[in-house]
Parts: sequence; C-alpha cells; structure tokens
Amino acid sequence: NMDPFGFNFDNTFELLPDSFYRKAGATPVDFPEIVAFNSSLAAELGLDEEKLQTDEGKKVFAGNRMPEGASSISQAYAGHQFGNLSMLGDGRAVLIGEQVTPEGERFDLQLKGSGRTVFSRSGDGRAPIGPMLREYIISGAMHALGIRTSRSLAVVTTGEGVTREEILPGGILTRVAMSHLRVGTFEYAVRTGDETDIRTLADYAISRHYPELEDLPDKDKYLSFLKAVIHNQAELISDWMLVGFIHGVMNTDNMTISGETIDYGPCAFMDAYHPETVYSSIDINGRYKYQNQPAIGQWNLARFAETLLTLIADDKDEAISLAQDALSEYGRLYEGFWLDGMRKKLGLTEESEDDEMFITELLDMMVAAEADYTRVFRMMALGQAEKTELAKAEGFSEWHDKWKRKLEDQESGIEAAYELMKSVNPAVIPRNHLVEKALDEAMHYGDYSHFNKLNEVLAKPYDDSHEDMYKNPPEASEAVLQTFCGT
Ligand code: AMP
Ligand code: MG
Ligand code: MG
Repeated sequence: NMDPFGFNFDNTFELLPDSFYRKAGATPVDFPEIVAFNSSLAAELGLDEEKLQTDEGKKVFAGNRMPEGASSISQAYAGHQFGNLSMLGDGRAVLIGEQVTPEGERFDLQLKGSGRTVFSRSGDGRAPIGPMLREYIISGAMHALGIRTSRSLAVVTTGEGVTREEILPGGILTRVAMSHLRVGTFEYAVRTGDETDIRTLADYAISRHYPELEDLPDKDKYLSFLKAVIHNQAELISDWMLVGFIHGVMNTDNMTISGETIDYGPCAFMDAYHPETVYSSIDINGRYKYQNQPAIGQWNLARFAETLLTLIADDKDEAISLAQDALSEYGRLYEGFWLDGMRKKLGLTEESEDDEMFITELLDMMVAAEADYTRVFRMMALGQAEKTELAKAEGFSEWHDKWKRKLEDQESGIEAAYELMKSVNPAVIPRNHLVEKALDEAMHYGDYSHFNKLNEVLAKPYDDSHEDMYKNPPEASEAVLQTFCGT
C-alpha cells in the first residue's frame, strides 16, 4: 500500500450498473484549514493521523487532492420527502472511496459540501461551516452513546464564502459510514434502469451489511433481508427515543439500509420531555416530531418493502402478504427494544407485568412537570430524583416509593440497579443551546474553544464530573426552540 496517509481503498459501489452513480470530482477550494479532526476514528480506520493533519492531509479533506486509489462519485437515489417522492442524488457530496480497515471492515468515505454535481439542481453544492460542525458534534455524541451512526472524521473550512441569507464561511465534512445505501437507493432502483437493477442492488446490500444471508435460497434471502433491515431500524429508532433524539428529517433518502443514523440536519435532543416536541423549522405539521418517529420508521420501511416485492415471491399477492407480515413485526420489535431500554433506564433487571404502565406514569409526570428528560433519568441513577422538577408532579412520591420498592425487591440488589442506570442514562447530551453557542463562536468569531471542549465532554456521556453547564438543562432564556436545516 503506497498511500502515505494509510488509505486502503477498495471501491465496490461503482461495480453496480452505471445508473447508480456518476463520476464526480470534488471542486477544489482556496484555503482549506482543518478545524475538527477525529483522531480515534482515524486510528480505527488505519489512517495516519499525523500525516493527515499536515498541509498535504488537509488537501484530502478539502477535495483538493485525491488519495491513492480514490475514485470519486456522486450516488443516485430517490426519496419520499415529507411523503412525496422525488428523484435525488448527492447534490453536494462525493464518495471518494471505501476504506478497508486493518480489522477488515469497510467504510465509505464521503466529502460533504464538496461542490456541484449533476444532482445539484439549483444548489451550489456547498455547505456553510455551521451545519458541518453540527454534524461533527452530534454524530460524535451519538457514537459515544453507543447508537449506530455515521461518523465524522474531519471538518475543514474552505476559505470561501457560501451565500445563504447571509454570506457564511464554507465547510466540508468528511463523513464515514458503513455505507450510504438508503431506502431511497432502492426506490431509485425500481423506478429507473432495468428490472435486474433491484436484485443487483439487494445482493450488493446483503453482501455489505447482511452477509450471513448470502447463501440462503432466493425465496428466503430477500424476505430475510427485509426482516433484517426492519430489525435494525426498529432497534435504532428505539435507541433514539430512549435518549430523546429527534432526527428531524426522516425522509426515506435519510434512512439507511445498514441501520445507522445518517444525515444530521435540524436534529436535536429534547430538553423538557414532551411527546409532541418538534424542533425543525421546516417540519410545519410535525410529521417528524419525537413521538411520530417509530411510526414514520414503519412507513419508510413499507416504502422499502415495496421495492423488494418482485424478489420476495414470484406471485405478487404472496409477496405482498409476506412483506406485510414482516412489516407487522416491526411494532412488536420496536416495543420490545424500547421496553427493554426503559427497564434499564429505571434499573429494572426483573420484568413485571405492570412495567409499561409504570413507565407511562413516569413519562406523564415528566410532561406535567415539564421535567428535563436527560436530567431526570441521570438523577434517578444517582438516587436524587427528588431534587429534579419531577418532584413537583402530582403522584411523584407514590410513584417514587413504588420504584424504590421494586429496586429493593430485585435479587441483584439495589447497587447493581444504580450501576446499570448510570451506564445507560447519560449525564451529558449535545444540548441545543450548547451546540448553538459552540457553532456561533466558531462560525462568527473563528473561536473553536467551546466547540473543542464540547466534543471532549460529549465523548464521556456517563461521567458526572463535567462542569454543571454541560449537565444542566438550559435556563428558559437560553432554550433553543427551533433548529434549521442548514443546507
Ligand atoms: P438533505 O436535506 O441534506 O438530505 O438533502 C436533500 C437533497 O438536496 C440531496 O439530494 C442533497 O444532495 C441536495 N442538496 C442539499 N443541499 C444542497 C446544496 N447546497 N447544493 C446542492 N444540492 C443540495
Ligand atoms: Mg460501473
Ligand atoms: Mg439527505
């Protein structure tokens, strides 16, 4: 391997039919500077972190220099955006290669904000630095929380302005993902090209993400593939719900086949618990509000299932019935993951019939007390629930007594319960007001100190020793009520 940075590309996506992508270079930028770099991810990828942070290295993240073995393309896909189907594609991103790590794992490396492609339509192919830094912070936090996600290797400023409502500094994010295969990639495949495309794509996705299914006979393979994606998405979305994460734009083009979180736009972590919470300024009708996420997941998976019907069975009615059965499992899977996760958040190691009702009572009290979701659970783990807003809620002391009794009655003992709770209830999350402050200082004043500190803090979500400002909910005057797409 002759590449000085440790790139070890083996590019398989372009072995797919030509309709799935277009050759597309990144457009070089004037004065790139690295403003964020993820050393531990670089090491996991087998990259030389020191060389990458030199003047030559930053050219790679800027799209000014293609590494050895790179082959830069933009991917075609479709997507249901707020319910309506559109033909899309990477309009401001290029896949530069698939990195095979020393462990033998394969990851897409994508430059986001890298200039126009054939899919750009009226867009400029660029991104302001703010949203790229936002993705860096939040994807890093999600990873530290143990939630499957695309990751962020680096962010560079471009030295060029991008024109939005104001002129903003440009930025490019190097995104790392198990793949960028989306539900929308499958929607694209069935609507373009020839009828073999969907099978080629499904086989490709299976080989990348579900290789254990490869040797099944066709009549089982594609149905099992559908079930595997349903399983992973049910698990992912329950993980989001358990930490109070709101993706914000659950369009089918933003839903992965691997089950990773992808495309961080106007996403946000909820402060005060309320099921109706929406942050995204473009989500006028609340389609993607917190409580809708599980159901939207199922809706998106139904769009995915439709693309696979011809592979699932020769007979259309049979295919539909098999797909419907698989989709109806989603609810049960989701509920199971969620209930399991909630039990852990409450330290319940033993299942009981009334768990679901017991949890619902807690959530209802949180709504009534406008209690901070993250703080309540962390304080419960520290045995200090009565010091939170929750204590004001009607019925709190009865509920709390009952909870304590449950923990004491468990065979594993109360200490084990607290340890479990501390391992799943974060002390710190990327709270909107902290993220916005970090971005504002970086974007408008070039001051990255708060951004860097915030990333450091978020890398240790289960640590109570962080300063109070990172743990506390926002004061009413600090609270961020709306987030923006940031294209
Ligand atoms: P997103 O909201 O990032 O999921 O993007 C939705 C679609 O719009 C994708 O096809 C993007 O590539 C495209 N897009 C977003 N921003 C830009 C931009 N600045 N220039 C060109 N295309 C864009
Ligand atoms: Mg080809
Ligand atoms: Mg997208």
